[in-house]
Amino acid sequence: MNFEAKKQALQKIAQEVESCQRCPLHKRANRGVPGEGNPDARIMFIGEGPGYHEDQKGIPFCGAAGRILDELLQLIKLERKEVFIGNVVKHRPPENRDPLPLEIEACRSWLDEQIEIIKPEMIVTLGRFSLGKFFPEARISRVHGQPQKIKFQGREIILVPMYHPAAGLRRGEILEDLKKDFLALANLLTTPKTIEPSREQLTLV
Ligand code: URA
Repeated sequence: MNFEAKKQALQKIAQEVESCQRCPLHKRANRGVPGEGNPDARIMFIGEGPGYHEDQKGIPFCGAAGRILDELLQLIKLERKEVFIGNVVKHRPPENRDPLPLEIEACRSWLDEQIEIIKPEMIVTLGRFSLGKFFPEARISRVHGQPQKIKFQGREIILVPMYHPAAGLRRGEILEDLKKDFLALANLLTTPKTIEPSREQLTLV
């Protein structure tokens, strides 16, 4: 798919998410937050789900956690327009509660389709719910910052688990870990096509 075809396919998903009623979350949400960014992104960031500000604007990570994410991106000289930013669930869970398994499951295909269209080289999971999509048993405190080569949709992707930026807002030491993990990400990205994760195979549990 060329850039224009990818853009159109992502726009179609965005429109469909707006009217999605696959789970009850849409009933109390203001609007859908499909995700946004470069259709040709080499790197996709996947968060948990929209909060208050995202639900108002339809834009992912545009509140306090988004400001942390922006700072982390700036640290490694990446701009939002170069990457794609999405979430595991596309409508806001009431009072920002954790998304329920049935909501994550109902929303799964939107994110899968976005990954299929974009075909990123790297996925950075932000927080335990997006890590859980790929490694349900993994503990984020043990695996954050450690690149994993995974097979997803028949392709090899580098997955890098990271803490959720909102956790960095609450705890200074997590913010430090996030900064370190982002700086390590920059090194992976500077390696032009052949991104090599650490050779050591991690157990992720
Ligand atoms: N937290 C998330 O996980 N996603 C957003 O879009 C905003 C906050």
